[in-house]
Amino acid sequence: MTQQPVKQKLPENVDIKDIKLYINGSFVDAESKKQFENVSPYSNEKINQVAEGDKSDIDKAAAAADAAFKGEWGKMKVADRLEYIKKIADVIDENIEDIAPLESYDTGLPISQTKKMVARAARNFRFYAEMVASRLNGEAYQVDDQFINYTIHKPIGVAGLITPWNAPFMLETWKLAPALATGNTVVLKPAEWSPLTANRLAELIDSAGLPDGVFNVVHGFGETAGASLVSNEDVKLISFTGETATGSEITKNGADTLKRYSMELGGKSPIIVFDDANFERALDACTWGIFSFNGERCTANSRLFLHESIYEDFVSALKERIENIVVGDPMDETTQVGPLISTTHYQNVKRYLEIAEEEGAEVVSGNVPESMKSGNFIPPTMILNATNDKTVAQEEIFGPILTVMTFKDEDEVIELANDIDYGLAGYVWTQDIQRGHRVAQGVDAGMLWINSQNVRDLRVPFGGSKSSGIGREGGHYAFDFYTEAQVVHVALTDHHIPQFGKKQ
Ligand code: NAD
Repeated sequence: MTQQPVKQKLPENVDIKDIKLYINGSFVDAESKKQFENVSPYSNEKINQVAEGDKSDIDKAAAAADAAFKGEWGKMKVADRLEYIKKIADVIDENIEDIAPLESYDTGLPISQTKKMVARAARNFRFYAEMVASRLNGEAYQVDDQFINYTIHKPIGVAGLITPWNAPFMLETWKLAPALATGNTVVLKPAEWSPLTANRLAELIDSAGLPDGVFNVVHGFGETAGASLVSNEDVKLISFTGETATGSEITKNGADTLKRYSMELGGKSPIIVFDDANFERALDACTWGIFSFNGERCTANSRLFLHESIYEDFVSALKERIENIVVGDPMDETTQVGPLISTTHYQNVKRYLEIAEEEGAEVVSGNVPESMKSGNFIPPTMILNATNDKTVAQEEIFGPILTVMTFKDEDEVIELANDIDYGLAGYVWTQDIQRGHRVAQGVDAGMLWINSQNVRDLRVPFGGSKSSGIGREGGHYAFDFYTEAQVVHVALTDHHIPQFGKKQ
């Protein structure tokens, strides 16, 4: 692919330098002194150099996190710890105007979309500061006037967080907020394709004055830095977001050190539109749900099931939308779809369009501006005349590509929606509220929306079933994941204890 000169402009307040690891409160080179190149998804030109951590750096970071857990952070009063969590929320809020451009520059996600994600990340820190303050009281039971049983929740120790490139800042902070608020310390291994905002996060947390070693960032590759985090003995849990195959690999590699896991994995989520649906709203939701975030979104509604009676009208309206979607520079506020993260990913996504045609389907695409045709841009696309058994209906493409299929009735569409390994999300559009609930409950997925699109309160769980994950993030589910429940049994009377071996 021909390379394209960088034409993007960063705001004046954004400065990009080479990136170091953040270990024990200091920005340091990798012990090996190795670096890797970080590349722009827009131009495929070098952005900066990034320190390439591996096992020795992970071991240092984990040892620092362990020492902080056993030291100042572990001994700190909860109220003081939560002040730090609120401070992190404040510094994120104060810096939205530079975090969001960095995120868009590094990932190709449109700036109008990254700004919203950064604001939500700050809210998530405040949310967990409040939740921990109100939830540490545990439960207490009086038993037969003889005992009290009560529970407390203790942090677990060093948490290993491994994150992907598709919404890096939000997904990193998503895990970090509950991990720190509940009293753990953290080693983060961010995705190698999107290191800019992970580094910014380290700078912001450093400026918030957290004790050394509480938060550490080791950049590097999955097979080296990631795998070393998983097998490190100081690390007590792994919270992972990424591909299903990587999740499976991680559980194998962590077996010897018996870790606790949270796995947020891939998806291929259905959107089901019945003939009585509010046509325009369903169209808005379907279009936004697959083409926002460049289609690089785990909960993207990548499989559209249309009732056969509305197929022609819906597809023709979709075609018009696809042709009008603004594809362009992610730094431009009007851009709706930007370039894919890398040439490798671009080639993978493009290959699915060839597969669709080889399998007899029809590919209908929108437009990419002429000047950007040499970049990683895939135009918003729909695949027609596919069936649910085809590759493009079964595999996660992770790009702006919608596979469209039809159904005759409720039973058939539930069967089709479930005939897949994934089970992350699902969307149902109908004016019949009873049918909406029936179908939502019939779909095997962790999260369902009826007449709605991906709006989620921070209190409810996030996560998938089947090959889409293990466990849930968000709400008290993350609180439970990052804490160990301890029960204390107290006797109120000298109750009977069997007297083994006592001479009568
Ligand atoms: P990926 O699995 O390739 O990489 C994710 C992270 O794992 C990276 O930091 C990578 O370096 C690391 N890694 C890779 N191999 C490793 C190993 N052997 N041991 C330890 N770490 C390793 O995923 P990706 O391509 O970065 O992200 C896209 C995927 O993430 C998609 O499948 C998408 O659906 C999924 N995702 C899921 C959710 C969710 O909440 N369910 C959210 C966002 C993305």
